[in-house]
Amino acid sequence: VDRKRKVAAVIEEVERTLATPTALLRGISDALVSEMERGLRGDIHSQLKMLITYVDNLPTGDEHGLFYALDLGGTNFRVLRVQLGGREKRVVKQQYEEVSIPPHLMVGTSMELFDFIAAALSSFVDTEGADFHLPEGRQRELGFTFSFPVNQTSISSGTLIKWTKGFSISGTVGADVVSELSKAMERQGLDMKVSALVNDTVGTLAGGRYMDSDVVAAIILGTGTNAAYVEHANAIPKWTGLLPRSGNMVINTEWGSFKSDKLPLSEYDKAMDFESLNPGEQIYEKMISGMYLGEIVRRILLKLAHDASLFGDVVPPKLEQPFVLRTPDMSAMHHDASHDLKVLGTKLKDIVGVADTSLEVRYITRHICDIVAERGARLAAAGIYGILKKLGRDKVPSDGSPMPRTVIALDGGLYEHYKKFSSCLEATLADLLGEEASSSMVAKLANDGSGIGAALLAASHSQYA
Ligand code: ADP
Ligand code: MG
Repeated sequence: VDRKRKVAAVIEEVERTLATPTALLRGISDALVSEMERGLRGDIHSQLKMLITYVDNLPTGDEHGLFYALDLGGTNFRVLRVQLGGREKRVVKQQYEEVSIPPHLMVGTSMELFDFIAAALSSFVDTEGADFHLPEGRQRELGFTFSFPVNQTSISSGTLIKWTKGFSISGTVGADVVSELSKAMERQGLDMKVSALVNDTVGTLAGGRYMDSDVVAAIILGTGTNAAYVEHANAIPKWTGLLPRSGNMVINTEWGSFKSDKLPLSEYDKAMDFESLNPGEQIYEKMISGMYLGEIVRRILLKLAHDASLFGDVVPPKLEQPFVLRTPDMSAMHHDASHDLKVLGTKLKDIVGVADTSLEVRYITRHICDIVAERGARLAAAGIYGILKKLGRDKVPSDGSPMPRTVIALDGGLYEHYKKFSSCLEATLADLLGEEASSSMVAKLANDGSGIGAALLAASHSQYA
């Protein structure tokens, strides 16, 4: 009985500190919008970098030719080639390969990482078949998707601001990542030009627009989280160059670094942040994205084990290990709909090392997954709502004109595979928008849009275009 009371007390406290009532979400959206505006003004204290991407035109559908893309994100990187056939034939043929990054390379040196990538790209190029056509005398071209914050200096150059998502590599911050990659390709004897350097959000936006001309923003929910959207060039005070002819500029918000007193930060978040590779940074990302959700659940379960003997008199030693509980496992536990929560029981046995958990313990575990996933999904929805507000697409126009159709492209393993997360996000967004505005809003999975998107941007910025 005493144990039950203690369990209830911890759960009650978790529910309270991780709660995201709709009114709070609205406040968070507003705080995000003001940070976006500060970032666009170039205020050095702004938390959102609101990076200028040098992408002032998105794909039109006319792109043609053979292009490569390389996507360096979190845990995997992908290489891709695509034969584009212009307006009529569109994507004629496409091939890709996925390579996982050996963990030691994520914390090694810049040269080791780029050599590894260039070698994989080089062997991929070697497998190019006869159904891909490179016109005589032309150099192969590549769109490089690099999902870390970069200070872009042109469409095909930019310096790394910082590593995130568990990467910590010496000698890359401040370096031009395109020239790092190009030098590595040269060392491999690979003759290829990097024609576009894009963030994955920008790639997803480009890929999304190619599929649907009403796409105005792209959100990544994978290992980390980020968003990009199409801004009016004249709403970017810090842009001092010529106004692009399109009147538009894609902005990479780097919203993962958003921080606000309004964010429901619990003791678990604070402790995880404190022990992370980048304490004090990427606070919004740490509450939302796939790298962290499972770890937050682990920390709560550990508290329940310590304070309320959830798993018996001894705290399971495995539960003490940071990051043992990965978000895909959390997702599998959360989705267990069997009457005896069998999947969940097996996961607890495999991961935490406790066999024979009671049904009650399993229910509690699932409830914790639910609280943590729901908070992440609702916070992500508040972010999307903020972007729609910034774009003036959050409500029906007051001048009586019809509500324009608005499409948001979403990608990332978390959004794609964690059904309860994605459906909570969509329901929350609909709730924030209200019935009328949400009826013209579409959230679309842009599966691997970022790879295709980078290839499309390489095409439109080709040296031969
Ligand atoms: P990245 O963000 O590294 O470029 P992805 O977009 O493929 O790569 O996202 C991978 C991340 O998505 C994983 O780190 C994990 O956190 C999350 N993820 C993958 N599969 C699942 C799943 N089944 N359930 C929940 N999260 C998942
Ligand atoms: Mg990615």
